Amino acid sequence: MLDSIKSLARQYAADITQTRRHLHAHPELSFQEQNTARFVADQLKAIGITPQEGVADTGLVAIIEGRNASSRVVALRADMDALPIHEANNVPYKSTVDGVMHACGHDAHTASLLGVARILHVLRDQFDGTVKLVFQPGEEKAPGGASLMIKEGVLENPRPISMLGQHVAPNIPVGKIGFREGMYMASTDELYLTVRGKGGHAAMPDNLVDPVLIASHIIVALQQIISRNCPPASPSVLSFGRFIADGVTNVIPNEVTIQGTFRCMNEEWRAEGKRRMVKLAEGIAEAMGGSCEFTVVHGYPFLKNHPELTRRVRAQAVEYMGAENVVDLDLWMAGEDFAFYSQVVDSCFYRLGTRNEDRGIISGVHTPTFDIDEDALETGAGLMSWLAVRELAEM
Ligand SMILES: [Zn+2]
Ligand SMILES: [Zn+2]
Repeated sequence: MLDSIKSLARQYAADITQTRRHLHAHPELSFQEQNTARFVADQLKAIGITPQEGVADTGLVAIIEGRNASSRVVALRADMDALPIHEANNVPYKSTVDGVMHACGHDAHTASLLGVARILHVLRDQFDGTVKLVFQPGEEKAPGGASLMIKEGVLENPRPISMLGQHVAPNIPVGKIGFREGMYMASTDELYLTVRGKGGHAAMPDNLVDPVLIASHIIVALQQIISRNCPPASPSVLSFGRFIADGVTNVIPNEVTIQGTFRCMNEEWRAEGKRRMVKLAEGIAEAMGGSCEFTVVHGYPFLKNHPELTRRVRAQAVEYMGAENVVDLDLWMAGEDFAFYSQVVDSCFYRLGTRNEDRGIISGVHTPTFDIDEDALETGAGLMSWLAVRELAEM
């Protein structure tokens, strides 16, 4: 089986690259992936698979049944959306859409999963169980396509025992793959504060309620919640990137707006932290004579890789890639909506090395110069096929 998958992945590598280039040249923003969905559906039909379309509007689900199809099910996920970034690369497959770019590698994930579909469709009478392919919209935008697809039943009928997802990694050399057991990525919540006071002439503060001073106290106090109330062993980040007090030297404004992000890897602390932040900010503003309107936009939960599943999958990756090409990942405080699946089924989200310093492919995700070493795509399709088949055999 290992040799069959490797040879099919090699055979299809050029096509998978073409698919990736097509997707890269025609990016679509989150929840607007109509053409991408149509393209994916056409590709699947050409392979001989009829997908279920229109799941969460632009998502698709495809089923590949092996022998004893009802015995067990593993799900594989690729996200399909692009970002509002204008591509700065000069490559033949450069984005043809101004201001929209596949800068997070979701084109590579989708192309790889189409490669998996082709490989496993060919091999379907050589493995037991069912593989469910999930082509997901809207990873980059709240509430996350994963949460919508789950609501529409993607994890039911048939219900997967485990689920795998992969993501390109511009910090890991091409040819390598990364795993981490347990907590891996952070929950993400957006914080929006409007601090109101009473503005006026800066020379007469005694007649005013200074929202700039109130907002400053709030920022410092909120950071102390992280320092004093978060369990020390639990990673947590609070960052404010926007603090607008639009007065001038001698005018104190009426209000200050603040925006920030709160990230952690513990759902209890996440709820508790937000509760404390709102209470403290409102209390400080009130005590100082002003008010604070605090809005939390609840984002993705933290992503936990199921330990036993990850251990099994990692061992299978060693079989496929060689131990020297399987690396351990550090915690990453970015968010990822694959986390929604990980809250429902045993899941493993791993990273596909796409860096190539010799070829200058070093830019991070979400930058205008992001690109991948396309040699990663053969691994992206082949390894995922292998992991799915092995997981079905081991469950
Ligand atoms: Zn992204
Ligand atoms: Zn991404």
